[in-house]
Amino acid sequence: MASIFSKIIAGEIPCYKIAETEDFFAFLDINPNAKGHTLCIPKKEVDKIFDLDEATYNGLMQFSRKIAIAIEKAIPCQRVGISVIGLEVPHVHVHLIPLNSMEDARFINKASMTKEDFETTVNAIKEAL
Ligand code: 5GP
Repeated sequence: MASIFSKIIAGEIPCYKIAETEDFFAFLDINPNAKGHTLCIPKKEVDKIFDLDEATYNGLMQFSRKIAIAIEKAIPCQRVGISVIGLEVPHVHVHLIPLNSMEDARFINKASMTKEDFETTVNAIKEAL
């Protein structure tokens, strides 16, 4: 069965999309640690990041770096953190999280975001790309 993220790539589930290439896709996390929390994924559906073939792994890191630089321009933060967990969704995803404190990296406190907040945030990151 297709993962929830494959359904997002296919447009079957809506998302706040930031960028897409032939092999990768970036969109806002729906339950963000902080405003601007973004997920970067390979279109290829693989569960664990270190099971990716080397070219896809390196490509995902390059793609994530471009998105992280745009996030740092668009969202006031001390820096953008990177995290890979994957215990919830079995489709590789890199979390890019604007950090202002260690709490933002802990996946415990969540930012409350309205639809308008998501729209403003996604547009700001896209403009900074
Ligand atoms: P992990 O698998 O790394 O523990 O976390 C999965 C992440 O995916 C979570 O931060 C969660 O909020 C996010 N997520 C789960 N389902 C959806 C969804 O349908 N849309 C979006 N945009 N994010 C999702």
